[in-house]
Amino acid sequence: MIISMKRNSSREEIEAVRQRIEDFGYKIHQIQGEERVVIAAVGVGDVTPCLEALEMMPQVEQAVRISAPYKFVSKEFRKEPTRIPIKSFEIGGDEFVVMAGPCSVESESQIMQSAEAVAAAGGKVLRGGAFKPRTSPYDFQGLAEEGLKLLRKAGDATGLAIITEVMSDGDVPLVAEYADILQIGARNMQNFALLKSLGKAGRPIMLKRGLSSTIKELLMSAEYVVAHGNSDVMLCERGIRTFETITRNTCDIVAVPVLREMTHLPVILDPSHATGKRSLVPPLAKAGVAIGADGLIMETHPCPEKAWSDGAQSLDLQQFGKLMRELQPFIGLWGEQRKGG
Ligand code: PEP
Ligand code: MN
Repeated sequence: MIISMKRNSSREEIEAVRQRIEDFGYKIHQIQGEERVVIAAVGVGDVTPCLEALEMMPQVEQAVRISAPYKFVSKEFRKEPTRIPIKSFEIGGDEFVVMAGPCSVESESQIMQSAEAVAAAGGKVLRGGAFKPRTSPYDFQGLAEEGLKLLRKAGDATGLAIITEVMSDGDVPLVAEYADILQIGARNMQNFALLKSLGKAGRPIMLKRGLSSTIKELLMSAEYVVAHGNSDVMLCERGIRTFETITRNTCDIVAVPVLREMTHLPVILDPSHATGKRSLVPPLAKAGVAIGADGLIMETHPCPEKAWSDGAQSLDLQQFGKLMRELQPFIGLWGEQRKGG
């Protein structure tokens, strides 16, 4: 059950509702939203008697039964799509949003050139990793705070918002100081300490699907963030590990409409990590628009052959510009579809 309190409910009124819920044997999880307190009540058995009792309490705005284990992120809880404001635009609204940039921030000129190309092509968000989750401990691990500074500088110079990965709960305050969106990488999708700490990060989150995670597990991870106080969460399909080895991962493209049926959170597709191969990024990017994602995140680099990470899947800046032009008719149709609901 989710119980929304009326605006400006007093501490005593909230306590009375909590007490009533506990009398019925449910566990409580309370969220202090911007306008009102929302309480998730979790437990077993028929919730009808409790719901009826709560609905009679004057300070309760609404009490709804939600059977899914992911509650706040479910369509049952909220029908309208979540729109996440970032600078002067929204993710999850009427605009298709492209995020792009290098896998890792390497140098000022590399990130600046990338930012200029992304902005010129109509992208809205600059990506670039400063804390890199690398399979080998001997691979480049990222420039850390120096990388965040360069990314922020490039974002400010071009008017782009910036997204970058945060790998541990201890780094959240530092990364949140610089970034407009915090990325949680596939390898950390179930780092529950990190997910909990994002509740108070004060920044929107992009949560990437784990390498071997189901859609339900992805939603449960998003639920952690929302239940800890941050409802600005977008999800990212970036391919999953299967028996197929021709592509780096197997893109679960149908996850996009599946997620749109199951949750009100925006869904982003990452055709770069999903394929691992530059030539496959444009067709998959087009499929992502056509299938109704809210946006794309892609890797692009001024000189992919020399990239310190993920060069094989990075488009060079000309290829990125060309892809953005090719995406325009798809984005036009996407807009018409969105208007039509
Ligand atoms: C990345 O975006 O560079 C990255 C490491 O992605 P993922 O977590 O999806 O592997
Ligand atoms: Mn990468």
